[in-house]
Amino acid sequence: MDRRTFGSVPSRRLGRSLGVNNIPHKICTYSCLYCQIGKAVKMQVDRREFYKPEKLADEVKMILDNIQDKNDFPDYITIVPDGEPTLDINLGKLITMLKSTGTPVAVITNGSLMSYPDVREDLHKADYVSVKADVFDIGKWKLLNKPHKGLVLNEIINGVRSFAEEFTGKLITETMLIKDINDSDSDLKNTVQHILIYKPDTAYIAIPTRPPAYKEAIPSDENSVNRAYYIFKEHIAKVELLTGYEGNAFASTGNFSEDLLSITAVHPMREDAILELLKKSDGHINMLTELISNKLIEKIEYKNHNYYLRKFSR
Ligand code: SF4
Repeated sequence: MDRRTFGSVPSRRLGRSLGVNNIPHKICTYSCLYCQIGKAVKMQVDRREFYKPEKLADEVKMILDNIQDKNDFPDYITIVPDGEPTLDINLGKLITMLKSTGTPVAVITNGSLMSYPDVREDLHKADYVSVKADVFDIGKWKLLNKPHKGLVLNEIINGVRSFAEEFTGKLITETMLIKDINDSDSDLKNTVQHILIYKPDTAYIAIPTRPPAYKEAIPSDENSVNRAYYIFKEHIAKVELLTGYEGNAFASTGNFSEDLLSITAVHPMREDAILELLKKSDGHINMLTELISNKLIEKIEYKNHNYYLRKFSR
């Protein structure tokens, strides 16, 4: 098993986050236009076991035990795979094991399986759940999130609603704004009415800040983001924007290549962040060149910056 834990990394929502990747590369229920980890490799809606939760939890404990700089200690252990975390049938067990470390556990989900009672039961064990709320018009949902054909939008909405009614942790929503797809006034008004059903602690509005899977995923411009903010704000007390770069404070375990491969599997890194990580690990630039020439990492240019993303054999 490859290393499935990455970070800790800076997170715009969670402070410092130690990521756990509980799903093999890009197995998801959606294939979003803006996905930062590439196009879906496999789409499915049936839950199954991918990795033993004991192994994932042991890896997390080892990372926590080896953190040398106390500033790198995570505020959350975050289950944020390069796929949909609720596809993992052992999710509840994993959350319980991770919580035994004493660090709160967050799960970042697209919410598409929250109509399943067992998924809701698992997520109730978490301290923090982030659920996707991009668009609620069926045609646009299909265009933007490209759901598996077995999914029904109304069932998802009802599932998230049932979950929200009983969840005692922090529930937040995240709306990714894509130019000319979900950022018109009428779409935004419809989106906020649905988000109200979920009663989130905070509604986050985001735009893609890293290279998207499909070139049609153009981030909404500043005007549209501002409009969205004010439309949301008319109805929801806490609305925040996630439109900036999260910074370069990626933690190092001392093994540059391993750190880079595990982080970039779920989180494309900007070149300046990589150079900082290299410095922290006492590494040499050749280590990066070698990963690129061995086709383990690929370089992508996006909005005047170079990003590096883990390459997987398809
Ligand atoms: S953005 Fe999330 S939900 Fe959408 S395809 Fe990528 S991993 Fe799946």
